Amino acid sequence: MAKKKRKKKKKRIQKPLAQKPQPQKVEERTAPEKKPKKKKLILLVPFFLLLVIATLVIFFFLTPRKKVIKDSSLNVLLVTLDTTRTDRLGCYGYQKAKTPNLDYMASNGVQFLNAYCQVPLTCPSHCSILTGTYPLYHQVRNNGTYYLSPELLTLAEALKEKGLKTAAFVSSFTVDSRFGLDQGFDVYDDQFAPDQAFKALNSERKADKVFASFARWLEKNKVGPFFAWVHFFDPHLPYDPPSPYREQFLDKPYDGEIAFMDFYIGKIVEKLEEYNLLGKTLIILAGDHGEAFGEKQEKGHGVFLYESTMRVPLIFYAENNLPKGKVIDARVRLIDLMPSILDMLNVPMPKDIQGISLLPYIEGKKKKGLSSYIESYFPRENYGWSELVGLIDGEWKYIRAPKEELYNLNQDPQEEKNLIQEERKIAQEKKDELEDIIKNSTSSLIAEKRTMTAEERERLRSLGYIATSESPSQGELPDPKDRIEEFLLIQQAEAYEIEEKFQDAAAIYEKIISLRPNVATSYVNLALMKARMMKIDETIQVLEQGLEQIPDSEVLLSRLGHTFMVAGRVKKALETFDHILKNNPRYFDALLGSAWMLDLTGQKEDAQAYYRKALEVEPENKFARKNYALSLAISGKLNQSIEIYNGLKKEYPDDYEIYQDLGIAFGYAGDITQSIENLETAVSLHPTPVAYLNLAVAMKKKGKREQAVRYLKLYLENPEGESEESISRARAELQNLEKTLKQ
Ligand SMILES: [Zn+2]
Repeated sequence: MAKKKRKKKKKRIQKPLAQKPQPQKVEERTAPEKKPKKKKLILLVPFFLLLVIATLVIFFFLTPRKKVIKDSSLNVLLVTLDTTRTDRLGCYGYQKAKTPNLDYMASNGVQFLNAYCQVPLTCPSHCSILTGTYPLYHQVRNNGTYYLSPELLTLAEALKEKGLKTAAFVSSFTVDSRFGLDQGFDVYDDQFAPDQAFKALNSERKADKVFASFARWLEKNKVGPFFAWVHFFDPHLPYDPPSPYREQFLDKPYDGEIAFMDFYIGKIVEKLEEYNLLGKTLIILAGDHGEAFGEKQEKGHGVFLYESTMRVPLIFYAENNLPKGKVIDARVRLIDLMPSILDMLNVPMPKDIQGISLLPYIEGKKKKGLSSYIESYFPRENYGWSELVGLIDGEWKYIRAPKEELYNLNQDPQEEKNLIQEERKIAQEKKDELEDIIKNSTSSLIAEKRTMTAEERERLRSLGYIATSESPSQGELPDPKDRIEEFLLIQQAEAYEIEEKFQDAAAIYEKIISLRPNVATSYVNLALMKARMMKIDETIQVLEQGLEQIPDSEVLLSRLGHTFMVAGRVKKALETFDHILKNNPRYFDALLGSAWMLDLTGQKEDAQAYYRKALEVEPENKFARKNYALSLAISGKLNQSIEIYNGLKKEYPDDYEIYQDLGIAFGYAGDITQSIENLETAVSLHPTPVAYLNLAVAMKKKGKREQAVRYLKLYLENPEGESEESISRARAELQNLEKTLKQ
């Protein structure tokens, strides 16, 4: 019977609901309680009793469950929806949405209409979710430049301590394990973008891949209990949904990304059903922040604290343990997720967290909205403008800035009228409350928690992701509102860049440089546009101009070194990297660049010394490992080379290049059997002329002439990228072999 029931649900979850549920108040969705009337006829009692029982039974099943049933044996699945605006989901009233799975979870679970993030940035916001604390406390204030302190208790640690298996599947570099969010997870799958030389802040993977990884793990861990966190990044820029969502949402690609993500939320639920886990799992679906589409002149998220980026979707679902179709109006916060989950599983509440359990709201025992501290240090850290800090309390939102703001969210949800002058008294009250929160919630370990390791900082800086602003990070800074023109210029340039209008983007960066000539990132941005247009001389010129303004800038020197590399100016490239390494001997980019240049020019010993230094800084770097192994193989150090390849093979079992290079290395080492085995695996994953040619050579050495002929033919069928010399030698070899075969 249970099976039948599940099957039915499965259908519902896959198909869009015919009618999108509209947000309603709790009371409206709850069926009225009915009591059977008393009858007086004694003779009819037995029949009547039966009727009463039957009616009671029927009502027991028909009346939506109102209670929360805590259960320490529940699995927990946290799904975070990056950059997802509430008003783009069907369950939050958007008619054009294609979000049947989120809508289903909402109408069969608990939906929070007024959930807020505490900070509109991916890494800090996830830190708030995973620790139940304000950024004031966990101290992660920006993407990429902070490390979550090991001293903090994370949700994963608390649940692991309780005996749950823990696993995370993330899809953006901003929450890479190197930033400390992996604390408490047995498995932290941030294996994406392995084919990029560097994972960068824009490295991401799509929902289908994240789902596949989660599904593989779940299959092995379905016995539970488990805590899994699945992070979907798709709605984040760039908005490029895959087919068929691209075509379906041609003019609304952001909505298409959400629809694509929603599809995989459905797949997750399907998997849980398949393993009979849906009734045993608490599912939390939460946005990490929203996205601005030009509201208050902002596009994207991170700089301002307005509603478009601060409100997030939030849905709780537990088939047997939470009410169905409950909608909660009261304001809640992402810091409340961890305490709610712990409460649901009867885990004692840790001290020193700012969030509270939301279960009393679900039970209807509490109704008053929670006040929330909000902040963004992104303007300070990325542009040298003032940070914004605020408080949402009751109907008011107060923002502390060089030019303060006060909005009445009930009367003015668009935040069009700043009431700071009209409502001085209220503003003062809110400001005092805000200062109290800051005083009481700031942790004492600020300094320790503010720095990442030197290598991480260096690498991010080398990629130009930490804006080196002209302003010091202390003292009076401009209000981001007063820099809106500059900000819009930057955003416009970024938009042009995404559209590949490099000329237009370059013109904007030139304008920004003329406004503020001592910001290194502006030169890097302009140089990148010139490079994209293949204007290499101009690229070099721009970077040298920047270095006149900001000598010794590592960002500019690193970019310049790379440009020399691309231009084939080996000596200049090595000189430039040397300049960086004199000041900073652990600068990864310069170490790897030097290694590469020396390797290409045949200076293998020196190259290998640089590879080793680079790998000391970043031992897991796939690009550096592959190149080091290849260099070793070519210079005859085959055992060392093979050892590195074997390590890579374990980590990247689907990378054909590793098998191919390893096969070639074995060939050099004279181990023809191993060479053939690896090369055959390589061509089964992804055939290349190089692999075919090497297979032919190996087969010939083994005396398998027919196989050698076969592979030479395959090589000659499509020798793309191969030199004329190599092709004609292969032809000659083929003729020879065919002749000997005929004899
Ligand atoms: Zn995010």
